[in-house]
Amino acid sequence: MRVQTKTKTKTKTKAMMRNRKQDAHLIIRKKFCRFCVDKLRTIDYKDIKKLEAFISDRGKIVSARFSGNCAKHQRRIAEAVKKARFLALLPYTGA
Ligand SMILES: [Zn+2]
Repeated sequence: MRVQTKTKTKTKTKAMMRNRKQDAHLIIRKKFCRFCVDKLRTIDYKDIKKLEAFISDRGKIVSARFSGNCAKHQRRIAEAVKKARFLALLPYTGA
């Protein structure tokens, strides 16, 4: 009996994982930090094309969970986006 219940729970969790992956429509790419791969230390706030990749269509900063950035570079991206917003290079909100 115990063994049967264990197998049931395992199949449930696997199904849950699949559903989560299907539900996540945001940018899911390889789970590594692009800036660490390129060995970039600073992120330019004038480089809008790069920053736009880390902004949702509503203008929000995409979380590190979705973007795959490390904590250090996520912080720098957030700072750069906020600077760019202040200079009206990026929007505060989506259309
Ligand atoms: Zn990084």
